[in-house]
Amino acid sequence: MASIFTKIIQGEIPCEKIIETDSEIAILDIMPCAKGHTLVIPKLEVKLLEDVPESEALSLMRTIQYVAKAVSTAFDRIDYNIILNNGSNAGQEVEHVHFHILPRPKGSLRPFHQRSNYAEGEMQEVGAKIRNCL
Ligand code: AMP
Repeated sequence: MASIFTKIIQGEIPCEKIIETDSEIAILDIMPCAKGHTLVIPKLEVKLLEDVPESEALSLMRTIQYVAKAVSTAFDRIDYNIILNNGSNAGQEVEHVHFHILPRPKGSLRPFHQRSNYAEGEMQEVGAKIRNCL
């Protein structure tokens, strides 16, 4: 089933479009966390970052950087986070990979507010576990 973003890309649903390239579209989020909250969405309908073909990844990152710079400039060089909710446990609601460019006004709530510490030796184990999957 086509995601809501595919319908936006195909022009079936209106959006506030920032830019469209051959491979991506950037639109304003309809329920923004802050003014200027923007989504960069690859046109290819895939759910997760790891599903994006390597051949498309550079173009995607280039567009994220280009749009993020414009968002920041538009709001007085505001700081911002770039966030990807990759999978439902990570908060992904729309199953079509997309990056949030989230402007951070002074004093705004930090997205990463819960932290923990590794137990003794655990950090090295986790590092090795991930490196084994490269
Ligand atoms: P996520 O939780 O990462 O899947 O984020 C999905 C985002 O899509 C949310 O921030 C929604 O506000 C946004 N969204 C959903 N429908 C639309 C729409 N029609 N136009 C723009 N943004 C949308």
